[in-house]
Amino acid sequence: MSPKSNNKAMPAICNEGCNKQFEVNGFQTARLPGAIEKTYFICPHCKHEYVAFYTDLEVRELQAKIRLVQTKLQNPRVDQAATLKQVKDIQAQIKAGMDRVRANIEGG
Ligand SMILES: [Zn+2]
Repeated sequence: MSPKSNNKAMPAICNEGCNKQFEVNGFQTARLPGAIEKTYFICPHCKHEYVAFYTDLEVRELQAKIRLVQTKLQNPRVDQAATLKQVKDIQAQIKAGMDRVRANIEGG
C-alpha cells in the first residue's frame, strides 16, 4: 500500500440531491453481476448515491499491475522516467476501462 492512500476526507456537495455539503470518508463497494464492482459514496443527508467508478476484472488487473509498477519507483536503480511513463500508460488504460464499464452499465 502506498503511504499516499486516499483516506482523508473529501468535501463534496450533494448537487444531484439536497444540495447540502458533506464529507466523503472513504468509498463503499458493491458487487454487481458480471464480476463488476461499483465504488460509490452516499450523501448522509438525503442518501443520494454517487458512483465514483466501476471496475471489472480487466480494470482490477490493471490496478494490481499499476501498484506493482509504482513499487518499482522506490528502487533508485530503476529507470524512473521509463517507469513513470509505464504508470501513465496504465493509468490511461484504467481510465478507458472504467469509462467502458460505466458506459455498459449506465447505457443499459
Ligand atoms: Zn444529499
